[in-house]
Amino acid sequence: MSFNINSFQLNGRRALITGSGKGIGLELARGLGAAGAIVVINDRNREKAQAVAAQLREEGISAETAVFDVTDRAQLFAAINTFEASSGPIEILVNNAGIQRRAPLEDYEANDWHELMRVNLDGVFHVSQAVARHMIARGRGKIINICSVQSELARPSIAPYAASKGAVKMLTKGMCAEWACHGIQANGLAPGYFATEMNRALVDDQAFSQWLCKRTPAGRWGKVEELCGAAVFLASPASDFINGQTIFVDGGLTSVV
Ligand code: NAP
Repeated sequence: MSFNINSFQLNGRRALITGSGKGIGLELARGLGAAGAIVVINDRNREKAQAVAAQLREEGISAETAVFDVTDRAQLFAAINTFEASSGPIEILVNNAGIQRRAPLEDYEANDWHELMRVNLDGVFHVSQAVARHMIARGRGKIINICSVQSELARPSIAPYAASKGAVKMLTKGMCAEWACHGIQANGLAPGYFATEMNRALVDDQAFSQWLCKRTPAGRWGKVEELCGAAVFLASPASDFINGQTIFVDGGLTSVV
């Protein structure tokens, strides 16, 4: 069969995006929705999830909600199983929820280490397992794990974050190793530097911003909507033979020293 441009369409497929009440997750929901997906907004706060879904519906996007904390295994399994039974199949999962905690490694609080790992790494494991069990039963599914340039590159004060994002990149390959035979494609999407709340300290730091623009071949910060093309591609049938890869959307940062 020859290539069909419609293979980029998401046409009524349900896409659950964790941590999509703001930032990159919200913008990815907008992008997947614009490509035809029914987006499922996840937040820990029910009112916030419902308000964001209502806002997206006003923008012409089909939006539903699933309320859970990615670190609460019992809660998220119940929420995902209930959603699957009552609303419909989750055919696309974007593991986006993540946090940052900055401190020198020698002073890094053990509690901060555990909290960061619980959200950034354990959360991807728990949510993926809950969703993949349904995908495996159906014999198809798309998983997109939000990695980072820190999946490859370390920086002072964020060693635990880099460790978590390196692990998510390898967990993506593990998902490919075990779930490709069930018709699931799991890939990573690795943003460079984008001005969201997570990076407020960096955005406010003029010296950092100048350094970043010199260090990035594109010469600037990324715009969150620039992540949507790769996300739509990885969520769509156009990428059905791409598995276990991580696509860097970073203005060239990881390609150049
Ligand atoms: P953000 O603006 O801080 O948004 C993070 C989202 O995750 C928020 O909606 C947050 O909810 C949610 N979240 C945090 N902990 C959660 C939990 N336990 N359960 C459910 N949701 C939770 O950050 P962002 O910049 O959009 O980052 C999104 C993802 O992209 C993260 O995985 C991050 O590591 C990655 N990333 C970002 C950049 C960048 O330049 N911004 C670069 C590379 C990778 P609350 O509002 O309730 O806290």
